[in-house]
Amino acid sequence: MSAEIISGTEMRAAILDELRVEVTKMKEQHGVVPGLVTILVGANPASLSYVTLKVKTALGLGFHEIQDDQPEDITEEALLQLIDKYNNDNSIHGILVQLPLPKHINEEKIINAIDPGKDVDGFHPVNLGRMVLGDRDGFLPCTPYGIQEMIIRSGTETSGAETVVVGRSNIVGKPISIMMGQKGEGANSTVTMVHTRTQDLEAHCKRADILIVAAGVPGLVKPEWIKAGATVIDVGVNRIGMSDSGKAILSGDVAFDEAKQIAGKITPVPGGVGPMTIAMLMKNTVKSAKKHIEKA
Ligand code: NAP
Repeated sequence: MSAEIISGTEMRAAILDELRVEVTKMKEQHGVVPGLVTILVGANPASLSYVTLKVKTALGLGFHEIQDDQPEDITEEALLQLIDKYNNDNSIHGILVQLPLPKHINEEKIINAIDPGKDVDGFHPVNLGRMVLGDRDGFLPCTPYGIQEMIIRSGTETSGAETVVVGRSNIVGKPISIMMGQKGEGANSTVTMVHTRTQDLEAHCKRADILIVAAGVPGLVKPEWIKAGATVIDVGVNRIGMSDSGKAILSGDVAFDEAKQIAGKITPVPGGVGPMTIAMLMKNTVKSAKKHIEKA
């Protein structure tokens, strides 16, 4: 039997509809619209396309959106000053600095300069610390947040489930491993995090009721590594070629066509985790605006 496809595109649409209602209410009741600034340094084509999509989504929700493009050679000091300006701007509730930054700029220093109360990407150490402590008052990093939301909305049972996460990066593997093992909704699972030094990747994957793969290696997870009926979340986005029309051909980290014959539920690439990441960025921005209203 073929697996149920967990569509990130459909879930994103549902989340954005929910947010639209919240934004309208916020405007009517408090005269506040969520404000998001997206700072893009240089003109990396992939970064530009991500930022364009984020800006379009924010505008579609009726946000006050500023796209602040900066030249490739902006100094670290000037970028820090820009962040300081938005930290002190009451109309801005979320600051997003698109990564990666040019080599001469220390990314850590830049992320640490963002007011944790406006860090809607959830990368600031304060928000990461809150996430580790299970404090939902901070901002969860958007991709792991989106993964967990997909698991919840797909009706996957997480309590007591064996969750295996392939990858241990700071932006995906590590945070989602922690989140899936927390107490609470969409969590309470028993988590194993695997990486390049893991001895028997296949054996771990085969045990997984929930398999989350974020390695960046196309086709890494073979169909025979998947437990029958498992929920498979494929985070990988790999460019494996170019179509005749010049569009990148994308593939995930899981052999999708074969895997969908074995899994119970599975995310596609594209159209899976990717759209959810942007939806959760918008959700974090609305949350930040609400917190701003509560404080005022
Ligand atoms: P990353 O920083 O390169 O980390 C990859 C992780 O996978 C590392 O921990 C690495 O282990 C592990 N790994 C790599 N090859 C492996 C192998 N053969 N066996 C076992 N483990 C292996 O990547 P990332 O930033 O987490 O991103 C992972 C993928 O997700 C990429 O394709 C990226 O494009 C995609 N992504 C998608 C979204 C989205 O919104 N859809 C967001 C972020 C990332 P070591 O630590 O031992 O090196």
